[in-house]
Amino acid sequence: MKQHMQNQPFEKSWHHLSSEESLSLLESDKHGLDSETVEQRLQLFGENHLPRVKGRSAIARLFAQLHNLIIYVLLAAALLTALLGHWIDFWVILAVVILNTLIGFIQEGKAEKALDAIKDMLAPHATVIRSGHRLRIEADQLVPGDVVVLEPGDKVPADMRLFSAKGLQIQEAVLTGESVAVEKHHQPVASDAVLGDRLCMTYSGTLVTSGQGHGVVVATGAHTEIGRISGMISDIENLTTPLLQQISVVSRWLTLVIMVIGGLVFSYGYWLNQTPAIEMFMIVVGVAVAGIPEGLPAILTITLAIGVQKMASRNAIIRRLPAVETLGAVSIICSDKTGTLTRNEMTVSTVMSSANNYSVIGVGYSPAGEFTIDEQAIETEQHEILTLLLRCAAICNDSALKRRDDDWLAEGDPMEAAMLTAALKADFTLEELKQFYPRRDVIPFDTAHRFMATLHHDHQGHDFIAVKGAPEKLIELCQFQRTEQGDVEVDQGYWHVQIEKIAAEGQRVLAVATKTVEQHTGELQFEDLDQGLVLLGLIGLIDPPREEAITAVSECHKAGIQVKMITGDHAATASSIAAKLGLHNTDKVLTGHDLTQLSDAELQHAVNQTDVFARTAPEHKLRLVSALQANGHVVAMTGDGVNDAPALKRADVGIAMGHGGTEAAKEAAEMVLADDNFASIARAVREGRTVYDNLKKAILFLLPINGGESLSIIAAVMAGMTLPITPLQILWINMVSSIALALSLAFEPGEENAMKHKPRQRDEKMLSGFLVWRISFVSLLFVLGVYGMFLWTQSQGASIEQSRTYAVNTLVVMEVFYLFNVRCLNSASWSIKRWFTAPIVFISIGMVILLQLNFTYAPFMNTLFESTPIGLRHGTEIIAVGIVMYLILELEKWLRRFMSNHHNVEETAS
Ligand code: ATP
Repeated sequence: MKQHMQNQPFEKSWHHLSSEESLSLLESDKHGLDSETVEQRLQLFGENHLPRVKGRSAIARLFAQLHNLIIYVLLAAALLTALLGHWIDFWVILAVVILNTLIGFIQEGKAEKALDAIKDMLAPHATVIRSGHRLRIEADQLVPGDVVVLEPGDKVPADMRLFSAKGLQIQEAVLTGESVAVEKHHQPVASDAVLGDRLCMTYSGTLVTSGQGHGVVVATGAHTEIGRISGMISDIENLTTPLLQQISVVSRWLTLVIMVIGGLVFSYGYWLNQTPAIEMFMIVVGVAVAGIPEGLPAILTITLAIGVQKMASRNAIIRRLPAVETLGAVSIICSDKTGTLTRNEMTVSTVMSSANNYSVIGVGYSPAGEFTIDEQAIETEQHEILTLLLRCAAICNDSALKRRDDDWLAEGDPMEAAMLTAALKADFTLEELKQFYPRRDVIPFDTAHRFMATLHHDHQGHDFIAVKGAPEKLIELCQFQRTEQGDVEVDQGYWHVQIEKIAAEGQRVLAVATKTVEQHTGELQFEDLDQGLVLLGLIGLIDPPREEAITAVSECHKAGIQVKMITGDHAATASSIAAKLGLHNTDKVLTGHDLTQLSDAELQHAVNQTDVFARTAPEHKLRLVSALQANGHVVAMTGDGVNDAPALKRADVGIAMGHGGTEAAKEAAEMVLADDNFASIARAVREGRTVYDNLKKAILFLLPINGGESLSIIAAVMAGMTLPITPLQILWINMVSSIALALSLAFEPGEENAMKHKPRQRDEKMLSGFLVWRISFVSLLFVLGVYGMFLWTQSQGASIEQSRTYAVNTLVVMEVFYLFNVRCLNSASWSIKRWFTAPIVFISIGMVILLQLNFTYAPFMNTLFESTPIGLRHGTEIIAVGIVMYLILELEKWLRRFMSNHHNVEETAS
């Protein structure tokens, strides 16, 4: 490698050098680097990413676990017990604090790791040319000298000197603060030009809004302009959502309230009952430990992280955590058609010229097949217009076909690849086409103008333009149509009827046109298409709906979620595909043009009765989301292009396509679909509902246990009686068995009826009337069970230690049975099948049983916790209490279901 490449190329300024000079200084050319050079440069300059902000260190995370009000209370209690010489209490409290901190530390670490792994799945990509081949690589593998292709929606992956640009507009707000895109070119600029004026340069982190360009990488990683400014990227996101924040505020208040109650209990016991201060202090610690749901925040965080991980394993990658919650409330999904609802595996099925109607036999990208008229195979070379049409479609084309064994694969746009297959079926040779008709310039396809045009010349000195695009657009542009008798004026009415005919079969229709030009400058402009364009005919392509999308649409309908299709395709095609997918209201289609005629209020009304929107442009999507939201809906919206970004941002859950989506769309989205598949959206919604239910279940499980415990203690103090459970024993239950059991709720796979009820309301309060009732009712059952067992065994002559051991075991057994009730929030939990859906529950229960056996029978635990072994008879009684509680709660569920059904029936009747 030459001297200057060994020095940092980053120190140089490139904008005043010509593009050839820049390429040569970087020892590169328009064909890009070879793999060996790339390897060397990667070693030399490192990967192309900004240094990451280091995550919190392990020590910092450990201390964060200790930074918790209840831990402070416990540490103070430990200190006091040590000062008083109660060494057993001291060690037990300390052990519990350490155990709890460790569990929180390990689980939270796992949750953070899981989220980091998900972030890696979203690594940005770049299109490069290496050794003359176009490749898609991870952007961090770029090196100085690499040739990069820029297309609309791309995020510029490194600092580059452009050597070609066509209508290339870049939005550089991250660097310059200017949100209007700037048009770039490849001419050098003055050496003293400031950043915003260096029009031949593009900088890492900026966005391509339109056009195309090629550039050579001059700086990567921290050496880019953005790297110099910001230095590091901070991608650490807090593990939190609005709901979790709400809960953590509630638990902080709860802690305060409990401290006040603790103070009152202390005063009452110390002054009124004359209990010694030390003893009262330990009781207050007991009240605090009993009442505060210590494990709750950690369990909620873990539930959320597990949900996000499960979604990722099913191709839905969450970029912003609050989306997990919102997904569960989605009431409308607006989806693109091509590739999301359909397979995006295109096959040309019909070709129509002014003279003939051809069918094309054969499916997929394999060239096996033929052209027929009225089911009779034809010799294509005898059909001049057809041959010309297929040739134009094959050269006005950026895709390629790859043969792998017996399989033919499409590279690039599947629709374009299908045209290559059609050309092969007509015996064209693709290499020859490229050689005979080299391309001189292109107007790339854009959803705004809906066509693509290329300029070619043949070796006989003729120039011509080939155009393909949306048929309405092309018919409007064309002046003539080709007939066997020569070119005549285009018959628009005739062609519109033909388009409707093909589209009504669910085929996507494209028109193809051409124009001969003389002595062309070599640059293709929009004005070149204004005069003399000749329509050759139409191509109809089939793109079958995805089977799994049909199932997913029906699942969404059952779940009270409306599905709307928003497509750039023709109205008749859209309506036919929508009907195949099982969408509602498919006979009524609103087109982009119709939308522009409607006022906001009219649109708000129209969207209620329309599920198919055709020939839409990205700005229509934004209006549609707004109209649906104005009707009170929670809207999920898919998108892929750079112009979809505003609609994705506006939607409650913006969903970008992982495969076909641009970086711009991904950045604007809350969620990225790794497989671009509608079915994955439906699955993510289901998972969103499950996560929300699981959060609810964790709250519903833990709060009544805390409630029951603290009520038991308070009742005992008020009655001036012995505590049924000592503070240390409560500590044991809360920090060991409760957490082990509640943790298993995070893994709940979701209830069978998760997608059989309407979505929850956007503003539904988690602590609803039902939840408050359930928490109070179950708290009461716990008090009755635990305190009842204590009093009853006392009356039977048991010692205090024995009665307390019974009480503790009763509480734990009740917890285990209660867990089964909670696992099915609304449905009966009888089903054995349902019990085994999450084996982790049994691991948790097994662990709790082992721990409890230790607590009851191991001599050292007996010393630590003042527990005593219990006999078989009492053991059976304890289990009976658990079963009774289980039955009471199932009865309560059944009654509520019965009443709500009754209510529904009455409502329907009236
Ligand atoms: P979706 O259903 O995902 O919105 P779409 O592919 O139908 O997608 P667009 O990509 O906006 O929507 O395409 C709109 C129209 O432009 C297509 O129906 C087709 O007629 C035309 N078109 C699409 N791709 C090309 C292309 N590569 N060259 C020429 N015309 C194209």
